[in-house]
Amino acid sequence: MPSPSIVWLRDDLRLADNPALRAALDRDEPVIALYVLDEESDGVRALGGAARWWLHHSLASLADRLAERGGSLVLRRGPAARVVREAVTDASAGAVFWNRRYGGAERRIDAGLKESLRADGVEVASFAASVLFEPWTVTTGSGSHFSVFSPFWRACLAAPPPRAPLPEPREVAGPKHPIASDDLGDWNLLPTRPDWAGGLRETWEPGEPAARGRLRDFFADDIGHYDRARDEPAAGATSQLSPRLRWGELSPHTVWHAGVESGRAGKFLSELGWREFAWHTLFHFPDLATENLRREFDAFPWPRLKPTHLEAWQRGRTGVPLVDAGMRELWETGYMHNRVRMVTASFLIKNLLIDWRRGEQWFWDTLVDADAANNPFNWQWVAGSGADAAPYFRVFNPELQAKKFDPDGHYIRQWAPEHLSEDPPEPIVNLGETRKAALDAYEEVKRAP
Ligand code: FAD
Repeated sequence: MPSPSIVWLRDDLRLADNPALRAALDRDEPVIALYVLDEESDGVRALGGAARWWLHHSLASLADRLAERGGSLVLRRGPAARVVREAVTDASAGAVFWNRRYGGAERRIDAGLKESLRADGVEVASFAASVLFEPWTVTTGSGSHFSVFSPFWRACLAAPPPRAPLPEPREVAGPKHPIASDDLGDWNLLPTRPDWAGGLRETWEPGEPAARGRLRDFFADDIGHYDRARDEPAAGATSQLSPRLRWGELSPHTVWHAGVESGRAGKFLSELGWREFAWHTLFHFPDLATENLRREFDAFPWPRLKPTHLEAWQRGRTGVPLVDAGMRELWETGYMHNRVRMVTASFLIKNLLIDWRRGEQWFWDTLVDADAANNPFNWQWVAGSGADAAPYFRVFNPELQAKKFDPDGHYIRQWAPEHLSEDPPEPIVNLGETRKAALDAYEEVKRAP
């Protein structure tokens, strides 16, 4: 009797460089690729709308690729610990493999499952595939974790280099009698009434083949401009690989080695370092999306929320050109350039005096690369409450930022052209006065015991 191997796919929707899939294939038994939509387990964060859109299409692409290789993708829904066990029983599987996750709730689920499956005599193994360096392997001299980026990244670079990527399998043969699978369409991951995903469809093609195409093009063409133009939102000089890394259509190892081979990716590779730093920080502070990392920020006197201000920010109607352009790019495409993410976040926190968690949640819902580590990490970085954060008193001036990084107004013209008309809208707040109010409020943090 065959005893199939299950590869439980999560944030690694790819065939190439997938150590869990490789281990399943090496067992020489039929392979079942399983994806579980878990919206019920305690502590697992529900996906935002743009992320659900991406997930739908990435799963559809993966299912096609598995079918081309003699296999199939099994879709199931529910609390992962229960659903994976049910799949093991249904398939009479002898082994389960997965690539490790680093969020608090996810680690608890995976550890519990590992223990219970092993107790039942099922082989289980997990692998490092979503980060270049695992969080417990990068420590300070005294054995604790880093809270500043530069020494963290130096320690990573002094460690053994990331392993070479594994090749893509040619064949992934499934069992003769496949186990039951949900229909992807029944998961309702795509928006319907209204269908707001038109801009996403025009901008992106989710799935591993398009991800590999973008990687190739970036290192063939754009990397030459990266160091000079990466801060200019209209230049198109960055990789736009963030959703590919978020969903694991590319592994960080694949991106890393492509960068190293290009011979001109020093700055780019250190951006991958920030991604590592964010994930390590989440590993050590699982409540990163809800709690200030620097607890003295709990004393920050957030004024009563003005819903009209929050909504103006969300819709790109603040009357501040670069902020409006960025928020509309986000709404339309599910993406925003990094420089503009910093400016729009700073404006929400330090000019509108709205708690960073509100902004983090909006980005979580609207970004196609919404990432459990990178998003809260960067929001806390802008707020001043996070790891190696910008000091709170550093308030980005959106007008100066626009002059410096969009001097010809290309970006603003694309997304918020009315600001360049003869009768531009007025800002909803006075930038100078609100900056001062934010700095006064910050005094309370400084006074906190
Ligand atoms: P590139 O410049 O080409 O960088 C290559 C890769 O490095 C990125 O794909 C990303 O994986 C990583 N990277 C680059 N900058 C950062 C950074 N500051 N922190 C962590 N990793 C980085 N990034 C996300 O992937 N998901 C998020 O949810 C997210 N939310 C953010 C929220 C705020 C408020 C801010 C200021 C930044 C956020 N970022 C997030 C980081 C950064 O803006 C994006 O990773 C970047 O804009 C993606 O574009 P790119 O792939 O072209 O970047």
